[in-house]
Amino acid sequence: MKLLEYEAKQLLRKSHLPVPDSKLIASIADIVTITTPIVLKSQVPTGGRGKLGGVVIVEDANELNQTAKQLFTLDIKGFTPNALLAEEKIEIQDEHYLSLLIDRDTGTIRLVAHRDGGVEVENNQADDFLNIPIDNDAIDSCAVELATYLRYDITLISPFLKQLYRAFIDNDATLLEINPLIYTKTNELTCSDCKMELDDSASFRHPDWQFENTAPNANFVTLNNNGTIATIANGAGLAMATVDAVATAGMTPANFLDIGGGANTASVLAAFQKIVSFPHISAIVINIFAGITRCDEVARAIIAAKQQMTDLPPLYIRLAGTNFEEAVALLSAENIPTLATLEECILNAKEHTHA
Ligand code: GDP
Ligand code: MN
Repeated sequence: MKLLEYEAKQLLRKSHLPVPDSKLIASIADIVTITTPIVLKSQVPTGGRGKLGGVVIVEDANELNQTAKQLFTLDIKGFTPNALLAEEKIEIQDEHYLSLLIDRDTGTIRLVAHRDGGVEVENNQADDFLNIPIDNDAIDSCAVELATYLRYDITLISPFLKQLYRAFIDNDATLLEINPLIYTKTNELTCSDCKMELDDSASFRHPDWQFENTAPNANFVTLNNNGTIATIANGAGLAMATVDAVATAGMTPANFLDIGGGANTASVLAAFQKIVSFPHISAIVINIFAGITRCDEVARAIIAAKQQMTDLPPLYIRLAGTNFEEAVALLSAENIPTLATLEECILNAKEHTHA
């Protein structure tokens, strides 16, 4: 799983790595707590923000509000942020690239570095990079190589690299990339940007892993704000098939949603809340094929979520798989009908839309 910059930096801070001071701006109202100069950074799950206007240094306090508003609406590679990171402005002496990553071919960790970091890093020649295997036993010699390559004193590099390596291991990371690693005008290193990916299969030993992209409905995709049919399905393939069936029937799907294996009251409720914010929805098609997910769990979630929503459009539900009969019984007790096939859901939704 990929983390947002501010989430990755929280983990770095916990591992005692130097990170600029910052505040998270969750909405425009929070901007009053900020003083200039400041760097405002769009928290989208993609890199290359600097070149696309997603990282802005604000010197003039009068421009804070306007710049923050623009950043909240600026589309970066298909993403708009839920939050901005307002970060202390660092005076740069030098920018470097430094990363640790899993080399899947050899099952080892590699350290990759470049003297010239920053937004143009991919323009560097491949053979200019330092690219060496690293592990706990080799860490001292790696630090010497890195210090020599970046031309810093070993007393600066060694503790930094040891903490970075610890952060990588302790967090079960598969990628930890610092770009730029800034050498400041006061001769210190700081992690100015961080891209971090964690090993999903290690999540069982990290109960504290609560990140934005694992939040309910992180993969809710708006297809058309004026769409008339909303969709909820489990599994990306089934979700796409559901959207396609709506479109094939001549209606406009408003969204794509793979609600995932753990469809629960919170995730169904979050989906309903998003759906009712669309202006023209006339029906919600729910298409669940339960394997590990149990239909009765989904049914309970739908019932509980529906009870909390008064203005919900009609639901057309197809459930199949594990505990299907129990789910149908639960739903019909609440007067929520279920249909045998997706096609029937679509037909009913269409009739209702035309009525
Ligand atoms: P990315 O483009 O998504 O990788 O975003 P970064 O966080 O790496 O920011 C892009 C560039 O903005 C960096 O390479 C820096 O040159 C510049 N930048 C970011 N923070 C600061 C800062 O505190 N001070 C200065 N002077 N430049 C910064
Ligand atoms: Mn960067």
